[in-house]
Amino acid sequence: MAFLEIKNLFFAYGGKNAPWVLENFNLSMQKGEVLGIAGPSGQGKSTLLRIIAGLERIQKGTICLDGRVMSDAQTSVNPEDRQVGMVFQDYGLFPHMSVADNIAYGLYHLSRKERRKCVRTMLELVRMEELSKRYPYEISGGQQQRVALARSLAPKPKVLLLDEPFSSLDAELKIGIRSEVKEILDATHTTSIFVSHDNADLEAVCDRIRVMPADFYSV
Ligand code: ADP
Repeated sequence: MAFLEIKNLFFAYGGKNAPWVLENFNLSMQKGEVLGIAGPSGQGKSTLLRIIAGLERIQKGTICLDGRVMSDAQTSVNPEDRQVGMVFQDYGLFPHMSVADNIAYGLYHLSRKERRKCVRTMLELVRMEELSKRYPYEISGGQQQRVALARSLAPKPKVLLLDEPFSSLDAELKIGIRSEVKEILDATHTTSIFVSHDNADLEAVCDRIRVMPADFYSV
Protein backbone atom coordinates (compact mmCIF):
# COMPACT_ATOMS: atom_id res chain seq x y z
CA MET A 1 0.00 0.00 0.00
CA ALA A 2 1.12 3.56 -0.72
CA PHE A 3 2.13 5.82 2.19
CA LEU A 4 -0.66 8.26 1.33
CA GLU A 5 -3.58 6.74 -0.54
CA ILE A 6 -6.65 8.69 -1.60
CA LYS A 7 -9.35 6.57 -3.20
CA ASN A 8 -12.58 7.55 -4.96
CA LEU A 9 -12.82 10.81 -3.08
CA PHE A 10 -15.88 13.02 -3.52
CA PHE A 11 -16.10 16.40 -1.87
CA ALA A 12 -18.51 19.35 -2.13
CA TYR A 13 -18.81 22.46 0.02
CA GLY A 14 -22.28 23.02 1.42
CA GLY A 15 -25.52 21.13 1.05
CA LYS A 16 -26.89 18.30 -1.02
CA ASN A 17 -27.05 19.92 -4.43
CA ALA A 18 -23.69 21.68 -4.22
CA PRO A 19 -21.36 20.80 -7.12
CA TRP A 20 -18.46 18.42 -6.51
CA VAL A 21 -15.18 20.27 -6.06
CA LEU A 22 -13.40 16.90 -6.19
CA GLU A 23 -15.14 14.07 -7.99
CA ASN A 24 -13.81 10.53 -7.88
CA PHE A 25 -10.34 11.85 -7.09
CA ASN A 26 -7.48 9.34 -6.64
CA LEU A 27 -3.89 9.83 -5.53
CA SER A 28 -1.07 7.54 -4.33
CA MET A 29 2.18 8.75 -2.85
CA GLN A 30 5.25 6.90 -1.69
CA LYS A 31 7.03 7.83 1.55
CA GLY A 32 9.46 10.69 1.03
CA GLU A 33 7.98 11.68 -2.32
CA VAL A 34 7.48 15.37 -3.10
CA LEU A 35 4.42 15.86 -5.29
CA GLY A 36 3.56 19.12 -7.01
CA ILE A 37 -0.01 20.10 -7.80
CA ALA A 38 -0.59 22.54 -10.62
CA GLY A 39 -3.61 23.66 -12.61
CA PRO A 40 -5.90 26.64 -13.04
CA SER A 41 -7.55 28.24 -10.05
CA GLY A 42 -10.83 26.81 -8.86
CA GLN A 43 -9.76 23.20 -9.54
CA GLY A 44 -9.79 22.26 -5.87
CA LYS A 45 -6.05 22.31 -5.14
CA SER A 46 -6.32 24.17 -1.83
CA THR A 47 -9.44 22.21 -0.98
CA LEU A 48 -7.51 18.96 -1.43
CA LEU A 49 -4.88 20.15 1.06
CA ARG A 50 -7.58 21.21 3.54
CA ILE A 51 -9.17 17.77 3.24
CA ILE A 52 -5.86 15.95 3.82
CA ALA A 53 -5.22 18.21 6.83
CA GLY A 54 -8.63 17.24 8.22
CA LEU A 55 -10.11 20.73 7.94
CA GLU A 56 -12.95 19.55 5.68
CA ARG A 57 -15.05 16.37 5.86
CA ILE A 58 -15.44 14.29 2.72
CA GLN A 59 -18.73 12.86 1.47
CA LYS A 60 -17.34 9.67 -0.13
CA GLY A 61 -14.06 7.83 -0.54
CA THR A 62 -11.10 7.14 1.75
CA ILE A 63 -7.85 8.76 2.75
CA CYS A 64 -5.26 6.49 4.37
CA LEU A 65 -1.98 7.74 5.73
CA ASP A 66 0.72 5.31 6.83
CA GLY A 67 -1.83 2.48 6.95
CA ARG A 68 -4.41 4.36 9.03
CA VAL A 69 -7.78 5.66 7.80
CA MET A 70 -7.82 9.45 8.25
CA SER A 71 -11.06 10.19 6.40
CA ASP A 72 -13.96 8.24 5.00
CA ALA A 73 -17.71 8.76 4.98
CA GLN A 74 -17.86 7.89 8.73
CA THR A 75 -14.41 8.84 10.00
CA SER A 76 -12.62 12.15 10.26
CA VAL A 77 -9.51 12.10 12.44
CA ASN A 78 -9.00 15.52 14.08
CA PRO A 79 -6.46 17.76 12.36
CA GLU A 80 -4.19 17.76 15.43
CA ASP A 81 -4.11 13.94 15.48
CA ARG A 82 -3.15 13.46 11.83
CA GLN A 83 0.54 14.40 11.98
CA VAL A 84 0.07 16.59 8.94
CA GLY A 85 2.00 19.88 8.74
CA MET A 86 1.06 22.94 6.70
CA VAL A 87 2.97 25.89 5.28
CA PHE A 88 0.96 28.77 3.82
CA GLN A 89 1.67 31.77 1.66
CA ASP A 90 1.38 34.21 4.57
CA TYR A 91 3.79 32.20 6.81
CA GLY A 92 1.40 32.23 9.77
CA LEU A 93 4.16 32.97 12.30
CA PHE A 94 3.18 34.21 15.74
CA PRO A 95 4.29 37.86 15.77
CA HIS A 96 4.79 38.03 19.54
CA MET A 97 7.11 34.99 19.63
CA SER A 98 10.79 34.80 18.74
CA VAL A 99 12.01 32.62 15.88
CA ALA A 100 13.03 29.88 18.35
CA ASP A 101 9.69 30.02 20.18
CA ASN A 102 7.78 29.84 16.91
CA ILE A 103 9.68 26.67 16.01
CA ALA A 104 9.14 25.20 19.50
CA TYR A 105 5.40 25.85 19.34
CA GLY A 106 4.29 22.40 18.17
CA LEU A 107 6.70 20.51 20.43
CA TYR A 108 4.70 20.64 23.67
CA HIS A 109 4.80 16.81 23.89
CA LEU A 110 8.61 16.86 24.32
CA SER A 111 10.59 17.50 27.49
CA ARG A 112 12.21 20.92 27.76
CA LYS A 113 15.61 19.42 26.95
CA GLU A 114 14.36 17.53 23.89
CA ARG A 115 12.49 20.61 22.73
CA ARG A 116 15.63 22.74 22.91
CA LYS A 117 17.58 20.10 21.00
CA CYS A 118 14.94 19.86 18.29
CA VAL A 119 14.74 23.66 17.91
CA ARG A 120 18.53 23.78 17.55
CA THR A 121 18.46 21.10 14.86
CA MET A 122 15.70 22.89 12.96
CA LEU A 123 17.47 26.26 13.22
CA GLU A 124 20.56 24.62 11.72
CA LEU A 125 18.52 22.97 8.98
CA VAL A 126 17.07 26.29 7.81
CA ARG A 127 20.30 28.20 8.59
CA MET A 128 18.71 30.54 11.10
CA GLU A 129 20.89 29.86 14.19
CA GLU A 130 22.08 33.46 14.32
CA LEU A 131 18.57 34.88 14.24
CA SER A 132 16.87 32.63 16.78
CA LYS A 133 16.04 35.45 19.19
CA ARG A 134 14.61 37.81 16.59
CA TYR A 135 10.89 38.41 16.16
CA PRO A 136 9.19 37.80 12.79
CA TYR A 137 9.01 41.55 12.03
CA GLU A 138 12.81 41.74 12.44
CA ILE A 139 13.59 39.25 9.65
CA SER A 140 13.01 39.20 5.88
CA GLY A 141 10.15 37.50 4.04
CA GLY A 142 12.42 34.69 2.86
CA GLN A 143 13.69 34.15 6.41
CA GLN A 144 10.13 34.13 7.74
CA GLN A 145 9.23 31.45 5.23
CA ARG A 146 12.23 29.36 6.35
CA VAL A 147 11.08 29.69 9.97
CA ALA A 148 7.55 28.66 8.93
CA LEU A 149 9.03 25.60 7.24
CA ALA A 150 11.12 24.76 10.31
CA ARG A 151 8.08 25.14 12.56
CA SER A 152 6.04 22.77 10.39
CA LEU A 153 8.84 20.21 10.13
CA ALA A 154 9.83 20.24 13.81
CA PRO A 155 7.09 17.83 14.97
CA LYS A 156 8.16 15.44 12.14
CA PRO A 157 4.87 15.39 10.24
CA LYS A 158 3.99 12.35 8.16
CA VAL A 159 2.97 14.67 5.35
CA LEU A 160 3.84 18.30 4.81
CA LEU A 161 1.40 20.41 2.79
CA LEU A 162 2.68 23.59 1.17
CA ASP A 163 0.04 25.92 -0.29
CA GLU A 164 1.58 28.59 -2.55
CA PRO A 165 4.38 29.07 -0.01
CA PHE A 166 6.43 31.43 -2.21
CA SER A 167 3.68 33.72 -3.47
CA SER A 168 4.63 36.58 -1.18
CA LEU A 169 8.32 36.48 -2.11
CA ASP A 170 9.88 38.51 -4.89
CA ALA A 171 11.24 36.66 -7.92
CA GLU A 172 14.92 36.80 -6.92
CA LEU A 173 14.30 35.51 -3.39
CA LYS A 174 12.10 32.75 -4.71
CA ILE A 175 14.86 31.21 -6.80
CA GLY A 176 17.15 30.94 -3.78
CA ILE A 177 14.56 29.60 -1.39
CA ARG A 178 13.26 27.03 -3.89
CA SER A 179 16.51 25.11 -3.88
CA GLU A 180 16.80 25.44 -0.10
CA VAL A 181 13.33 23.99 0.35
CA LYS A 182 14.18 21.10 -1.95
CA GLU A 183 17.36 20.38 0.01
CA ILE A 184 15.47 20.50 3.30
CA LEU A 185 12.65 18.22 2.13
CA ASP A 186 15.18 15.76 0.68
CA ALA A 187 17.38 15.86 3.80
CA THR A 188 14.43 15.19 6.10
CA HIS A 189 12.85 12.71 3.65
CA THR A 190 9.52 14.44 4.18
CA THR A 191 6.54 13.28 2.13
CA SER A 192 5.19 16.56 0.78
CA ILE A 193 2.47 18.02 -1.42
CA PHE A 194 3.25 21.39 -2.87
CA VAL A 195 0.56 23.50 -4.56
CA SER A 196 1.65 26.37 -6.79
CA HIS A 197 0.44 28.21 -9.86
CA ASP A 198 4.10 28.65 -10.85
CA ASN A 199 5.43 25.64 -12.75
CA ALA A 200 9.03 26.76 -12.25
CA ASP A 201 8.50 26.51 -8.47
CA LEU A 202 7.07 23.03 -8.82
CA GLU A 203 9.76 21.79 -11.19
CA ALA A 204 12.50 23.08 -8.87
CA VAL A 205 11.13 21.32 -5.80
CA CYS A 206 9.03 18.28 -6.80
CA ASP A 207 9.68 14.71 -7.97
CA ARG A 208 6.37 14.49 -9.83
CA ILE A 209 3.69 16.97 -10.82
CA ARG A 210 -0.02 16.49 -11.13
CA VAL A 211 -1.97 18.97 -13.16
CA MET A 212 -5.46 19.16 -11.75
CA PRO A 213 -7.82 17.68 -12.55
CA ALA A 214 -6.15 14.69 -14.22
CA ASP A 215 -2.63 14.59 -15.72
CA PHE A 216 0.71 13.62 -14.21
CA TYR A 217 4.23 14.23 -15.40
CA SER A 218 7.65 13.49 -13.96
CA VAL A 219 10.23 16.21 -13.41
P1 ADP B 1 -7.78 26.14 -6.23
O1 ADP B 1 -6.93 25.99 -5.03
O2 ADP B 1 -7.51 25.12 -7.30
O3 ADP B 1 -7.80 27.53 -6.78
P2 ADP B 1 -9.99 25.91 -4.36
O4 ADP B 1 -9.79 24.62 -3.67
O5 ADP B 1 -9.58 27.16 -3.64
O6 ADP B 1 -9.30 25.85 -5.80
O7 ADP B 1 -11.52 26.07 -4.76
C1 ADP B 1 -12.22 25.05 -5.49
C2 ADP B 1 -13.68 25.46 -5.60
O8 ADP B 1 -14.29 25.46 -4.33
C3 ADP B 1 -13.88 26.86 -6.18
O9 ADP B 1 -15.01 26.83 -7.02
C4 ADP B 1 -14.14 27.70 -4.95
O10 ADP B 1 -14.94 28.80 -5.25
C5 ADP B 1 -14.85 26.73 -4.03
N1 ADP B 1 -14.60 27.01 -2.61
C6 ADP B 1 -13.40 27.14 -2.01
N2 ADP B 1 -13.54 27.35 -0.68
C7 ADP B 1 -14.87 27.37 -0.44
C8 ADP B 1 -15.67 27.54 0.73
N3 ADP B 1 -15.13 27.73 1.94
N4 ADP B 1 -17.02 27.49 0.59
C9 ADP B 1 -17.59 27.27 -0.62
N5 ADP B 1 -16.89 27.09 -1.75
C10 ADP B 1 -15.56 27.15 -1.68
